[in-house]
Amino acid sequence: MPVNTFIRWENLMDVLTHYSVNNSFMETFKHTANNEKINLCMQNEFIRSCLEKWLDDSKFNESLKNSTRSKETRLAANEEFKMNRLELCCKLYTKAAQFAPDKSIESALAFSNRSAMYLRLNKYQECLKDIDASLNILENLDINEKEVHKGQLIMKLLKRKIECLMALKQYESAKTNWENVLELSKNIYKIPLEDKFIKKCKILLDYDKNDSNNKDIVKNINEMLTEDLIKKTLDKNEITLPFKSSKLQLCYTEAKGRHFVASTKIKYGELLIFENPFAFVLLPEYYSSFCYNCCAPLKYYSIPCDNCCTILFCDNKCLQEAKNSYHRWECKQGTSIFKCIGIAHLALRLTLETSQGNRNNDQIYNLLTHIDDFKSLELYQYSLTATLLLIYLQKKTDFFEKHPNLAMSSVGNELLHHMTRLVCNGNAISTHLMSDHESGSFTSIIDESQPRIGTAIFPTSSLLNHSCDPNIFSSNILKYVVIKASRDINKGEEITNCYGPNFRRMRLVDRQISLKEQYHFDCKCSICMDPQKDDMLFKIVEGLVCFLCHNEISATLSDLDVNDTVYCDFCFKHFRTLDFKRRLLKADKTYNKGIKELEVNNFFKAINVISESLRLYTLVLNQKNSNITKCEDSIAKCFALAGDYENCYMYLERSFDAIEDRFGKNSLEVAYELDKISDVMVNNLDMRKNRNLIHKALKYVRRSMEIFHANLSAWDIPYNESGLANIKHKENILLQFLEGRF
Ligand SMILES: [Zn+2]
Ligand SMILES: [Zn+2]
Ligand SMILES: [Zn+2]
Ligand SMILES: [Zn+2]
Repeated sequence: MPVNTFIRWENLMDVLTHYSVNNSFMETFKHTANNEKINLCMQNEFIRSCLEKWLDDSKFNESLKNSTRSKETRLAANEEFKMNRLELCCKLYTKAAQFAPDKSIESALAFSNRSAMYLRLNKYQECLKDIDASLNILENLDINEKEVHKGQLIMKLLKRKIECLMALKQYESAKTNWENVLELSKNIYKIPLEDKFIKKCKILLDYDKNDSNNKDIVKNINEMLTEDLIKKTLDKNEITLPFKSSKLQLCYTEAKGRHFVASTKIKYGELLIFENPFAFVLLPEYYSSFCYNCCAPLKYYSIPCDNCCTILFCDNKCLQEAKNSYHRWECKQGTSIFKCIGIAHLALRLTLETSQGNRNNDQIYNLLTHIDDFKSLELYQYSLTATLLLIYLQKKTDFFEKHPNLAMSSVGNELLHHMTRLVCNGNAISTHLMSDHESGSFTSIIDESQPRIGTAIFPTSSLLNHSCDPNIFSSNILKYVVIKASRDINKGEEITNCYGPNFRRMRLVDRQISLKEQYHFDCKCSICMDPQKDDMLFKIVEGLVCFLCHNEISATLSDLDVNDTVYCDFCFKHFRTLDFKRRLLKADKTYNKGIKELEVNNFFKAINVISESLRLYTLVLNQKNSNITKCEDSIAKCFALAGDYENCYMYLERSFDAIEDRFGKNSLEVAYELDKISDVMVNNLDMRKNRNLIHKALKYVRRSMEIFHANLSAWDIPYNESGLANIKHKENILLQFLEGRF
């Protein structure tokens, strides 16, 4: 019996690295010109056969269509449907549709069943799309009538369609379909209609299309964030993509390379760049939650690729766009192979995009590769991956047949150079949280992160140099990047981005090491050149206090890992770092116990236990340490859930200063916190009598609005509006409080 012996890509690379170090290949590789390196790997019998074998692994067949799996998944979904667990049910039906071979009965059944679920969710548009998909397949399908009664299925779908159309008040099309169903019922399938259904449709008999009051109302209820929506909004504001503010002046110096300087004063919140990526790839863990082509979040509706079963699209347009370009070379086994190789997937995508010949490739070729700065071991491993991809294109696709003018060696070269280019110029695509804003929800500031969902290359934004204290704020809407000024910028000042190491999150030494390793330069930004200022922030958020006299000591949290003792200037004593660590550990444990109580809704028990952990942390940590903020925030959450808004407010207020210091005055974190505090204040009924508090809440609401506006939504994109609308609503309530209403 064959054993499952799939070798992980990292392990195969280790094997090949050992092989090359142990014989002279590594030496030869080192001394071979960069442009010949892939050729060299291709010509090595051992390396090539290992890579070929790996690509042939049966594991990669998991991305091929499979009707058995489709059926199993659909039946499991049916069970969830019966139990009314619709979220899981939706996921499973979508999976069933993914596994189902194109235009097969399984595919028709998956869409048909999913449409029933949409109907139950009152998602009529989605329901109609699935009904049509299913009907389309059924029309051209010969079915073994013993298994599925085609007539019955078609009738069921049409009846469901009528129900949807009536719910959408599209009576005219409903009536047409009704007449169609009657005809099928009487003359074709000879299946009588139930009285219940006929009764339901009675309204259609009276419908007169000449009556102007009964005109079909085609509502655009597609609220999803889509590419079309963004383009429309940009059009309205006369912004054409890619957008670059005329205040950005491209300059060049030997030391800085190409970079942007403000040609005139730029104001906080001003739009500087809005750019589509030259190429982008979604990270595999998000294949089922975002569109593979445009990065739109897929909450309910999505359609599978008709050829492979790992990825999803937001609509048919995205599917076709992908299939007509890059995805035709990635489809079938490709998507599951790329799951293993990380950033190299984007290198392949760049190669596919630049080979299309209709793009301005220079903007990519002009980006630095730093290829000579790589250590030869690193370069060897990149070369192995490039060789793998080259073999993939040659053996698994018809790429070279379709591009007879492209030589294997030059494509291999491209792959390697793109890979090194991406190490320095690749950008993360993250989702921002405004989209998930639901009023009344109580999210913890500590948990709020911007998960990275993809990697992209943005030619213009890539020209921004790094600073550990940047003056821009960059965010993503779908796959686009939006760059705005995060503070006022003076004429002549350089516009800077942060490549990751931010002085608010990382210490100077660590930043310098990280930038040198990945980007090959020594950072000389204003913060790096001012170690004292750099230290100040860390003293605040990492500072320790003496557990005997409660005065601040000069050691910080990270010193505990390095030194054996710390010294207190006030009680002139040396303490063992172990004693600090023990106290911290006890506080951690207590905190986790409290969170467990919170999870099972024992709010008051949780408040007691977390308060104890807060006391324990306060014995050794500076007031602004994130552990203290974390405790205060969790206690506030408990109070909010228990309906005690006054105490909740008090705890949130206590941690606000620390959050402002840690993340910066104009940061989104601060805006979220202000939003949260004012939510609590508005919910607090007693507050209505206290004019001072109302004024304070108004101030908070307006400041959070200002930050959100500056950072996110200057284009009136309806998607962001729901979050902003909630803040506006709060402002109105507060104004009414002031007028003495309510
Ligand atoms: Zn899409
Ligand atoms: Zn596909
Ligand atoms: Zn720096
Ligand atoms: Zn002391």
